[in-house]
Amino acid sequence: MDSKTVGILGGGQLGRMMVEAAHRLNIKTIVLDADNSPAKQINALDEHVSGKFTDPEKIAELASRSDVMTIEIEHVNAQVLEELENSGSNKASVQPKPKTIALIKDKYLQKQHYISHGLATSHAKDVASTPEALKQIGYEYGYPYMLKSRTDAYDGRGNFVVESEGHIEEALKFLNDRPLYAEKWARFERELAVMVVRSLDGSVHSYPTVETVHKDNICHIVYAPARVADSVRRQAKILAENAVKTFEGAGIFGVEMFQMPSGDLLLNEIAPRPHNSGHYTQDACVTSQFEAHIRAVCGLPLPDGFSNFSTPGTNSIMLNILGGAEPNSELETCRRALETPGAIVHLYGKSTREKRKMGHINIVSGSMVECEKKLAFIMGTGPKPQE
Ligand code: ATP
Ligand code: MG
Ligand code: MG
Repeated sequence: MDSKTVGILGGGQLGRMMVEAAHRLNIKTIVLDADNSPAKQINALDEHVSGKFTDPEKIAELASRSDVMTIEIEHVNAQVLEELENSGSNKASVQPKPKTIALIKDKYLQKQHYISHGLATSHAKDVASTPEALKQIGYEYGYPYMLKSRTDAYDGRGNFVVESEGHIEEALKFLNDRPLYAEKWARFERELAVMVVRSLDGSVHSYPTVETVHKDNICHIVYAPARVADSVRRQAKILAENAVKTFEGAGIFGVEMFQMPSGDLLLNEIAPRPHNSGHYTQDACVTSQFEAHIRAVCGLPLPDGFSNFSTPGTNSIMLNILGGAEPNSELETCRRALETPGAIVHLYGKSTREKRKMGHINIVSGSMVECEKKLAFIMGTGPKPQE
């Protein structure tokens, strides 16, 4: 298909599923991460780069062997990527642009970016790591409010709900010496998400609006499409596309939003890469988010309808498989999914650890009610559905 080699910073499950999609198109991939990381396990074509995706030397090595570099995680060394792009000695283009990655990886800079572009987002304030500063936020925002780490945040591991003044000490202890900002509590009705692909020419195309349900700050279930009125889905699509238009570079972006009781939509955050809320696209849409990302960064076509559900009337539910309290106990859920028609199991090759994202299950059916029945069986809370 294409002789390009894509260098991927990060070899977790998102990298693994990018590799899968790229290889179907004969696009080579080289991964920078620890040995035997999930993306490397399924990719034996080339020598990979072993090391950290924050290490300047390793990034330069990846760059020297790639035509395009992309990311599966935003916590990379964006400054080194920018320097490499500007040095002229490096042939690899970086997609999305290092400037975009730098802006997004600091969640507070990301917030300010939305505010400066007039995009609706929850209220946020930079805050020093002192009890006095946190008390001041309490006076301004009331309780609870959300205290977040500006950097290295994922799966809620940088978030702390400050429920009262009495929780401030615990919050500071939990977030330790990380740079912080505070967010006003968003009493949302539900959370919505839209995957948006940005092509090299800057045009944007979105996937259907979905509904995400989080448990302990971790994505748990995704309903596709979102169980809301068409007008809300359209509103979400417009906000997501407008937000992604403000960033530079090609690739897929995951846009997280809060739907407020007033009907207003507020941006929560955006990921400049494939996203958990887009996993359903693998089995429910014409082109998966991973293939769309690879096509976008390589400048390959994304024809009309690529992001549509494969068949009109398709409904899908994605269930994340987190490591259970007992090692490998999560595999019981996978076994039930294997017994369920229309359920597709995706495992990431990780060693089991409690609450770790080990895999996901996509359920695809003609109706959401059917998907829900199948989900109940898979989760062990309902009878085996009869087809
Ligand atoms: P991700 O894995 O999506 O990158 P993250 O660690 O960056 O997660 P956020 O997306 O900031 O975390 O927050 C995780 C979840 O916490 C949100 O999806 C939402 O359920 C809840 N949350 C975040 N911010 C707020 C807020 N201001 N008010 C209420 N709930 C919030
Ligand atoms: Mg995040
Ligand atoms: Mg999030």
